[in-house]
This record gives sequence, C-alpha cells and structure tokens, in this order.
Amino acid sequence: MPHAQALPVRRADDALISCVIPAYNEAAHLADFLRDLRATLASFAVHYEIIVVNDGSADKTEEVMASLLGETGLRYLSLSRNFGKEAALSAGIDKARGDAVILMDGDYQHPLSLLSEMVELWKSGIDMVYGVISDRSNESRLKRWGTGMFYHLMESGSPITIPRNAGDFRLMDRKVVNALRQLPERNRFMKGLYAWVGFSTIALPFVPADRATGVSSFSYRSLSRLAMAGVTAFTTLPLRIWSGIGVVISILALLYAFWIATDWLLFGSDVPGWTTLAAGLMFFSGIQLISIGVLGEYLGRVYDEVKKRPLYIIARDVDNGPANGIPGD
Ligand code: UDP
Ligand code: MG
Repeated sequence: MPHAQALPVRRADDALISCVIPAYNEAAHLADFLRDLRATLASFAVHYEIIVVNDGSADKTEEVMASLLGETGLRYLSLSRNFGKEAALSAGIDKARGDAVILMDGDYQHPLSLLSEMVELWKSGIDMVYGVISDRSNESRLKRWGTGMFYHLMESGSPITIPRNAGDFRLMDRKVVNALRQLPERNRFMKGLYAWVGFSTIALPFVPADRATGVSSFSYRSLSRLAMAGVTAFTTLPLRIWSGIGVVISILALLYAFWIATDWLLFGSDVPGWTTLAAGLMFFSGIQLISIGVLGEYLGRVYDEVKKRPLYIIARDVDNGPANGIPGD
C-alpha cells in the first residue's frame, strides 16, 4: 500500500510532493520538460516523485521514457491505450504517494515557476491551490463564447460552483486526494469533482504559455464532449428545461384550440387547415426528438456508470521510488 496513506500528513519541509504529468504525444519536449520539472522540484522539495502517465501516445514517448526509467524519483505508468486526460489524471492520482499531489500538463503551458508558491500555500494550511487562467485573449472567440456558455449553464443548474477558468493545474492535499478517490463514478469530470469535494481552496492566477511543440489534443469536438460530460454529471437542468418548454407549448396549444373552435362556432369559418397542420406536425416532431435526445444523453451516462468498467488499464508501471535529496544540491 502507498506509505503516505498510512502516515499522518506532514506539511513540513520534508513532506513528499508527488507531481502527476499526463502525457499524450509529448515526446518532442517531454525529456526537457521532465529535466526542468525535476530541477524545479529539487530546488524546494526534499522528497518528491514525478509520475508520468503515458496516455497511449502514438509518438516516441515510450522511447523517450525508456532512457529515463532508471532515475529515482520517477514513476512511469503506461496506459494500455488512449483513455483521455481525465482517466490519465485518475491513474496518476491513484498511484501518487505524496502528502501533496500536483497535477500539471507536460507541454510547458503550466508555469513551473508557480510550483514553489503552491507548495508554500499548502504548507500554510490550504488544502487545494488551483491555477486560474487570468488571460484568455489568445483563445479564439468561439472557444471563449463556448466556455462562457458552459459556465453559465453550470452555475444556473448546479449547487456546486465550479471556479471559472480553473483547469487541472493544481496542488491537492492528501485529504483532498483521498476524498476524490472515494468518488465512485466513471464519468470523471475532474473540474467538477475538485469543486464537489470541497475543502479550503485558493486560486493562483497565471497566464498559460504557448504549447512547447505540437498542437492541443482538445478540438472543438472533444471540448464539447467534455462540456457535455460536465453538464450531465453536475446538473439536471437540461432535463428540467424540457418540462418548462412542454408546459409553455401546451398552454399555447390550448389557447390556439380555443380560438379555432370559437372562430368556427361564431363565424362559421372553414378552418384552412393543412398548412397549420403540416407546420405544427413538423415543429412538434422536432421538439420531441430533441427532448428524447437530451433524455438519451443522460440515459447513456447511466449505462456507462452501471457497466462499472475500470477507468483505465495500466500496461506498464515502473516505480523507482521517491527522490530524497537536500534542496539546492
Ligand atoms: N492529454 C492526455 N490524454 C489525452 C489528451 C491530452 O493525457 O487524451 C494530456 C496532454 O499530454 C497534456 C494535457 O493532457 O499534458 C493537456 O493536453 P493539451 O495540451 O493537448 O490540451 P490543452 O492545453 O489545450 O488543454
Ligand atoms: Mg496544453
């Protein structure tokens, strides 16, 4: 069993800090990044471990890692295929032994210079320190609009407030990690889960750097899929919206029926029916199909949950144990 779980958490200078790096096709800069990360950690942490989770990369990640595998302080998990960032993070979190666990992207977008501040804040007693993107001006309009819509929906539909513009870049105390690990769901919408578990938190603003090499794995399509996962996991608002729409439409239909009947009784108008009928039929079929789609979205999630498949499968686990040194050495 991981030793840190058996020991009381130490927020002292000699605490063990775990750093989880999910890596999907990051081979071009991974070795450099890990070297820089190690130097950063060694400058302020006595005990640390770096957990690289290879999320089924299709590039040379395996080869790059092969040359580093002997290094102490490095743990290498290779998943059996690409499970997605949320699953890769879960794998790393499950294996982390630290008193504090840092999650960080492996593409230099999350500044290494923030790590020591995160750890200081943690030592001062804060359970979770999360990075907040303070400037999104380099993102496209569409992406910012979509993000805004997403948070708006989440805020109106969920009792849990998910901090805006916070990502996975964060430090968590052992308590938070243990709480996260207790959550049984398959749908790991991490941004929501971090907020759901609670504890004392603090935001640390940062401006993400440009990706070192390559492009983001998150296309508009995968972002909208992620947003859908978040919405279905944390709010039933989309389901309730349809009840509202149904009520409004029923009232309108009743008024319209009343009007047609009056028109016919009082003025004997022959109802010029088929245009109205055709339009009404198509409109209501559309409405019904959309509402069934929303229902199906939730039902699909339920299906995923009851199957209880593991979140990820580890194909390879190389564990060299934590590095123990004196900072500055
Ligand atoms: N990532 C992963 N699995 C995936 C996609 C991404 O582990 O299926 C990792 C990736 O290697 C990086 C982090 O998640 O460390 C963020 O991914 P990316 O930079 O592509 O996304 P963005 O920075 O645009 O959010
Ligand atoms: Mg990135």
